[in-house]
Amino acid sequence: MKFYKRNQTKKVNIGGTVIGGGSPIVIQSMANTDTKDWKTTVKQLKQLEEVGCEIVRVSVPDIEAVQSLSKIKKHIKIPLVADIHFDYRIALEAIKQGVDKLRVNPGNIGSKEKVIAVVKEAKKAHIPIRIGVNAGSLKEVHGFADNISKSKALANAAMEHVKILENLDFGDIVVSLKASNIDITVQSYKIFASKRNYPLHLGITEAGSLFNGTVKSCTGLGIMLNYGIGDTLRVSLTANPIEEVKVAYSLLQALHLRSTGIEIISCPTCARCKVDLIKIVNEFEKKVVLIKALKKVKKPIKVALMGCVVNGPGEAKDADFGIAGGKDTGVLFKNGQIIGNVRPDQWVPKLVSMLKNYLS
Ligand code: SF4
Repeated sequence: MKFYKRNQTKKVNIGGTVIGGGSPIVIQSMANTDTKDWKTTVKQLKQLEEVGCEIVRVSVPDIEAVQSLSKIKKHIKIPLVADIHFDYRIALEAIKQGVDKLRVNPGNIGSKEKVIAVVKEAKKAHIPIRIGVNAGSLKEVHGFADNISKSKALANAAMEHVKILENLDFGDIVVSLKASNIDITVQSYKIFASKRNYPLHLGITEAGSLFNGTVKSCTGLGIMLNYGIGDTLRVSLTANPIEEVKVAYSLLQALHLRSTGIEIISCPTCARCKVDLIKIVNEFEKKVVLIKALKKVKKPIKVALMGCVVNGPGEAKDADFGIAGGKDTGVLFKNGQIIGNVRPDQWVPKLVSMLKNYLS
């Protein structure tokens, strides 16, 4: 919040959650279940809610899947987005089913009459539309060899869809311009952001596995956020979508762009470390996820777990709670003051109970 000047975008309300216009960056994910199987889908969406997902999207590939949307909507608390391609009848039915946003590209759903029909109903129901162009599916992008031309083509493709909606006097628009290549993605967003102030949904698409996809997504999204671009984001991973939400929070927390949550500071360990810090931090991180799911953390809390007394006391002192390791012990800090010693097997239970007390 302190270091990044964010672009001034338009505010768009998605089922009560506002994105754009300086609102906190909203974290999204997408179910990977079969939408027709609405019970399994609800189960996954509830897990996503628990880890803090704020808007969720489901694919609606056919007219059977669209019938699940009202049932899903009834069982979840966060806004529901229907992802639709090509068939305007699915878009119309999704609006009837009560979704909070459509992800649909108006240029791909056929004749002008079909687009008008969808826009008319979306307007009536106050449902925003996300235009999402994806380099992988755009032949206009593949025609070029260099990244700048590809980026321009991607941004132009988004603009074409935007103009269709603008010509129908529809302004509740969110835009994404995703590619699996960071350079193309960043350039495309920059080009688009220089032309329109609609809120932007960020993502590096098809980023890959949990490990590589996290690195790639955070690199790409971090660059864009540094330019002030981005009002909502999805970290796209070939993994359980719960991981997408966890990574998104860590990213925004690391950049100080979301000020809620529990930040864990821990050292990489070295020969001076006389406790099994890797095991302790992994255990503590799992507990923190559960605490965050149960309690609303209103202000940022910093917890430091450090291997030794070289850098340990400094970090632990700077944190709300901290432990600096010694041989078979740890010096416990609270708000910069030493308050005791803790055996390594008690670090996690001690810090968890301190956090719970603090949050109760
Ligand atoms: S805090 Fe101590 S144990 Fe951890 S990396 Fe630094 S010197 Fe090594």
